[in-house]
Amino acid sequence: MPIKVLPAEVAAKIAAGEVVERPASVVKELVENAIDAGATEIKIEIRQGGIRLMRVIDNGCGIPGDEVELAFARHSTGKLESASDLARVSTLGFRGEALASIAAVARVTLVSRTAQESLGTQVKLENGTVVQRERKGCPQGTIVTVENLFHNVPARLKFLRRESTEAGHISQLVSRYAMAYPELRFSLLTDGRLAFQSTGSGKLCDVLVKVYGLEAARQMLPVESGNRERGTEGDQTPIRVHGYVSSPSLHRSNRRYLTFFVNRRWVQDRSLSYATIEAYHTLLPTGRYPIVVLNVDLDPAEVDVNVHPTKREVRFRRGNEVFAAVQKAVRRVLTEKAPLPTVTGRPHPVGPSAEGPSHWGQPRRLIGVGGERRPLGQLAMEVQRTAEDALTTPVTPQMRPKLPMLRVLGQLGQTYIIAEGPGGMYLIDQHTAHERVLYERFIAERAHKAVVSQQLLSPLPLELTPRQQAAMAEHLETLAELGFEIEPFGGETYLLRAVPAALEGGFSTTLRRGSGQSSGRGDIGQVVAEILDELAEGGTGETREEKALISVVCHSAVRAGQTLSLEEMRDLVRQLEETSLPHTCPHGRPTMIHLSAEQLAREFGRRR
Ligand code: ADP
Ligand code: MG
Repeated sequence: MPIKVLPAEVAAKIAAGEVVERPASVVKELVENAIDAGATEIKIEIRQGGIRLMRVIDNGCGIPGDEVELAFARHSTGKLESASDLARVSTLGFRGEALASIAAVARVTLVSRTAQESLGTQVKLENGTVVQRERKGCPQGTIVTVENLFHNVPARLKFLRRESTEAGHISQLVSRYAMAYPELRFSLLTDGRLAFQSTGSGKLCDVLVKVYGLEAARQMLPVESGNRERGTEGDQTPIRVHGYVSSPSLHRSNRRYLTFFVNRRWVQDRSLSYATIEAYHTLLPTGRYPIVVLNVDLDPAEVDVNVHPTKREVRFRRGNEVFAAVQKAVRRVLTEKAPLPTVTGRPHPVGPSAEGPSHWGQPRRLIGVGGERRPLGQLAMEVQRTAEDALTTPVTPQMRPKLPMLRVLGQLGQTYIIAEGPGGMYLIDQHTAHERVLYERFIAERAHKAVVSQQLLSPLPLELTPRQQAAMAEHLETLAELGFEIEPFGGETYLLRAVPAALEGGFSTTLRRGSGQSSGRGDIGQVVAEILDELAEGGTGETREEKALISVVCHSAVRAGQTLSLEEMRDLVRQLEETSLPHTCPHGRPTMIHLSAEQLAREFGRRR
């Protein structure tokens, strides 16, 4: 076939395909226009998942009558003047193709009036061209109605999902904008029913209550990095990270609850997700994710927003610094403010119930742990507290749910310690509990540069792979901080002279006395090799060291299958009571299961 230029109408539909993928893409563009127009109130109406109709009503600046047609021309925008403006975009729109694209694939009606005009202008478009125009009275602002999306692009229409699915996408999108712009009032009417509304109070926590519910919102912690997480080079503008992150007690099974905005633009960015997940390292059970709503604010010149057709991906000029700023801001909040993970009414995803049938009859209900029924009066009072109250009251250390004093009763399957406390019965996993104890002790010792190390009676030769040798050269200091003393002997052989005392067994002698568990020499060599492998892996410095530390802790902790005396168990439980996060081990697995007296009574049919 000879090459020919496509007819304008076909070209327009192809171009539209980039921007308008589904109904939610239309709502997105219209809402962005309303925000760019300075609206304070944005009403969205949809019918049949938006396929039949989508309408966005704003009270923004409006479009002057003589510019209305121009707004629908491709590459016409009031937001950019020259190519250099592209380098620092501060509006949500900038390409001038949304209205043109939408008009190419749907019937569009636009009514708009500016403050200077007494009458507004209404235009109707079919296949991208104006078919009707009139002057008419209307409030200041703009109303765009989009009907019968893709009626003239059957190929696209086929790919639309069920109406409820499309409506779901729209609803998610509106919630996102409401979270990015808490000072604007958003409402969403779905087939005549009010599906979502934000107050426009300007407080993100109010929006969180609307989006995730009061219960979840109450477990969110405010993040405000201020200017402390600034870039390293002196005169560069700071990177500000602010928003809310869930405390470790609240988690979800997928990453869909990670929401990021860059200069208030919603973005999908792997490095931001990764930075956040890293910040939760050891605080969440494996396979669980936090709920996060974070804004990253930085100089518009530092981020390229013109990399994706729907503008949902961005590129940072100093990606590593943005990553570090997010990771640090989140981590700090978690370590400073997070209350202890309390076990909720739902079964823990990790635990005996996950390992198939249990001897407990109805494991799910039993293991559902801790969800102490609170007296009704107390519950009502809590609901009365405003969401803001609940969200802004800082969690002081005194409020942290500490472990109660426990009385050890015995050992089960050489793995679990059975204990009794005022709240009922506790089953403690001896290994994970000991890991938690050792982990916190290490952290404290390391902070005081006082890790106790133990000289070996005779040095242990280690044969290291080239990768391990490189890791060792690079991380000698980390290893020394952990209590290892290693020196080159020639070739690939190194001599291990001292190890962390915990690893040798001197650290918690009571726990090991008579138990016959002292790591053998071969065992220690194995641990060192493993740690070097961890250090050789990618990831940021901080997490690598953390992993190395956890591996020492894991190998030092008392194992399952080991008989403990009553005295040893009491010791371990006492030590666990002292830790700051007694309910999880450093890997995020639970250290204990609590069966409340009430649950026991219920299980035995003493109470309903
Ligand atoms: P862009 O947003 O990239 O500029 P659009 O095609 O979305 O491109 O809009 C074109 C122009 O129409 C905008 O630059 C703006 O001047 C005007 N416009 C569109 N929607 C609105 C609105 N709701 N209120 C005021 N002006 C609008
Ligand atoms: Mg736009």
